[in-house]
Amino acid sequence: MSAITPNQFVCPECNQSIAVNDTMKRTLLDAGCVVCGASIQPADINDTADSVPD
Ligand SMILES: [Zn+2]
Repeated sequence: MSAITPNQFVCPECNQSIAVNDTMKRTLLDAGCVVCGASIQPADINDTADSVPD
């Protein structure tokens, strides 16, 4: 199940951490943080394909 969420989003405003797939990544960049609505930049979403969650 690791291939489903290759990216980790951390909100710069509310510090919420969310694992996102590519579709969710684009949605976040377009619509902002799902928790607080802050504007999101590509740098706020990190590719974690090489790292293990937790
Ligand atoms: Zn937020």
